[in-house]
Amino acid sequence: MSEPVAPPAVVQDLEARAAELDAADPLAAVRDRFALDDSTVYLDGNSLGALPRGVLPRLGDVVSREWGELRIRSWEESGWWTAPERVGDRIAPLVGAAAGQIVVGDSTSVNVFKALVAAIRMARPGRSEILVDATTFPTDGYIAASAARLTGRTVRAVPPAEIAGAADERTAAALVNHVDYRTGRLYDLPGITAALHEAGALAVWDLCHSAGALPVGLDAAEADLAVGCTYKYLNGGPGAPAYLYVRRALQPLFDSPLPGWNSHADPFGMAPGYQPADGAPRGRVGTPEILSLLALDAALDAWDGVDIEAVRAKSLTLTDFFLGCVTALVPPRLVEPVTPAGHADRGSQVSLRCEGAGAVMRDLVARGVVGDFRRPDILRFGFTPLYTRHADALRAARTLADVIPASGAS
Ligand SMILES: *Cc1c(COP(=O)(O)O)cnc(C)c1O
Repeated sequence: MSEPVAPPAVVQDLEARAAELDAADPLAAVRDRFALDDSTVYLDGNSLGALPRGVLPRLGDVVSREWGELRIRSWEESGWWTAPERVGDRIAPLVGAAAGQIVVGDSTSVNVFKALVAAIRMARPGRSEILVDATTFPTDGYIAASAARLTGRTVRAVPPAEIAGAADERTAAALVNHVDYRTGRLYDLPGITAALHEAGALAVWDLCHSAGALPVGLDAAEADLAVGCTYKYLNGGPGAPAYLYVRRALQPLFDSPLPGWNSHADPFGMAPGYQPADGAPRGRVGTPEILSLLALDAALDAWDGVDIEAVRAKSLTLTDFFLGCVTALVPPRLVEPVTPAGHADRGSQVSLRCEGAGAVMRDLVARGVVGDFRRPDILRFGFTPLYTRHADALRAARTLADVIPASGAS
C-alpha cells in the first residue's frame, strides 16, 4: 500500500526554512574545509568523520619530507616525540580542559583500560565495585569486566540515568558514556560527576559521541578521567589515535597499568627501573602512531576559529529541523524517534526506530543518504555541525519518506 505523499506546499515551506537556517549559519563556510560534494548527504560523521582538506597535503609532507628526508631526525626536528601532548592540548579546549591534561595515543579501548584501572588504583581503600553504564558501547563493558577481574573488583551494570543514585560506599569508580551511541541520549556529566564524588567515587567519562559535537566542560565539572576517540566528530581519520584526560590534581596518583617506556620520566635513560613521568605523558605507552597522529593534527585545523558553543547551537537546530522534517514527511506509524526531544538530553544524532531498518538504510545509502543501521531496528543519523547543512537534513528526510514505504514494512 502506498502512503500519502506530503503536499508540495509542505515541502516548499521546509525548503524555505532550510534555506533560511543555512543562510543564517555562522559555521556555513567551515564546510569548505572538508572534502565533500553534493552527491551524497553524509550523516555518518559520528562513526567516521569526513576528510578535512588539509590532511592530504600535510600527510604528504610528513611522509616525503619528515620521514623520507629527515628520517630519524624528525623525532626531534619535526616535533614527533612531543606530538601526543601537543595534539592533546589542541583537543583540550574542545572538551573544556586546560592544557597539560590530555595525551593522544592508542585506541579508545586501550585508554578505557588505562583510565579505569588507574581510577581503581587511586580510589579510596575498601571500594569493591565498579559501576558501568548498562547501555554502553560494548568495548567499554568488556574492558571494565577485565579491569575488575584484574583488580579483584566486581562490576555492576546500571542504566546511566541511575548511576548517580546507585553510587555508594562500595563504589570505586563509574565508567559512563556522555552520549549513548545508539539512542543519541546525552547524560548530565556535571550532575553525575558530582553525585559520584559525593559517594566518594571517581568519574571516568567516555566522550566518543560528545567531543566535537557539544561542549563537555571536563575541568568545570571536575571530571576525574576521560577518554574519547578522534575519528568521529573530530574527523581524525580511520583508526586515528584516541585521547586520555587525567585531571591535573590526580596526575601524581595516576598509576598506569601499561607503564611503557614512553611514559618514563627519562625514556632515553633506558633504566631498568620504572619512574613515571609527571603530567600528561604518564598516560603514554609505546612509540606514538605518528602518521595517524599527524593526520589528526592536520584535521584539527578545521576547528580554527570555531566556537564549540556555536557548534552546539547548530547541532540542535540541525537535529530539531531533521526531526521536524521527518514528522512532516514520513507517516508517523513507520518511524519512532528514540532520541530525546529535550535539548538537555540530546547529543548530535537522531536515531529512529523502524521496522526493516537494515533494508531502509541500504536503500537510503543507494540514494546518496549515508547514515547507519544499528541492530535490531535503529536508523542512525549523525549531524556533524562543521559540515552538515539544514538542506542536507531535509534531503535526508525526503529520501527517507521515499524509500520507507518500499523497503520497510508495508
Ligand atoms: C566508537 C566508540 C569506541 C571505539 O573504541 P575503539 O577502541 O576506538 O574501537 C569506544 N567506546 C565508545 C562509547 C564508542 O562510541
